[in-house]
Amino acid sequence: MLVSDKAFIIKKTPFKETSLILNVLSRNGGLQSFVVKGALRPKSPFLGILEFLNEVEIYYNKKENTTLYTLFKADLIRDHFSLASSSGLLMDIGFLVQLTRRNIPFNEPVPALYQSFYYLLRGVEEKKGNKALLYYFLTLIQEMGLSLHLSGACSCGAKKSPYFNPENGSFYCEKCQKGRFVGEKMAFHLKTLADKKGKEIEITSRETKTYFDVLKEYLKFHK
Ligand SMILES: [Zn+2]
Repeated sequence: MLVSDKAFIIKKTPFKETSLILNVLSRNGGLQSFVVKGALRPKSPFLGILEFLNEVEIYYNKKENTTLYTLFKADLIRDHFSLASSSGLLMDIGFLVQLTRRNIPFNEPVPALYQSFYYLLRGVEEKKGNKALLYYFLTLIQEMGLSLHLSGACSCGAKKSPYFNPENGSFYCEKCQKGRFVGEKMAFHLKTLADKKGKEIEITSRETKTYFDVLKEYLKFHK
């Protein structure tokens, strides 16, 4: 059965003389691997299209009993060349992509993740990279089955909860204080993002960096 789908290129590895193994995150197929025959030949129609983070329309034949398909055509929808000029952002995205490839099963649709990856790249282009980055990270954590406790309040009922405990993913107030100090806005910011109300808030680069590091630390306790 001939299938077409929208996909983001998340990894490419040379294969044999002139071919590639491609990893993508696609809208209907989730994480998938493809063989792209002859992709590295000088006159290949795939030249310049299968670059990291590009958004493409892919065409392949879906068969039973295989999960490594042959890609026979790809059209460029959008390239994300502009990202290359921001190395810090590219590193953060690279980290999240690697985390995705290692923790999300291949060949299973993950629509929420695809959608938030779409927002991530669009957000970065529209200079809303901070929120987009954190939103994707939160969605990924959720897809990994490691959701944070984002009530926005401490378990004692106190509304301000500037401490985060990476062992259990909960926020605590000054009095109950467990874990590390992250600032009283983090719980609120992450909850607002998780509720898809990110438009209502601003998150600075400095806050983003803190939250990003804290979330990384959280993952260390759970893998
Ligand atoms: Zn408390």
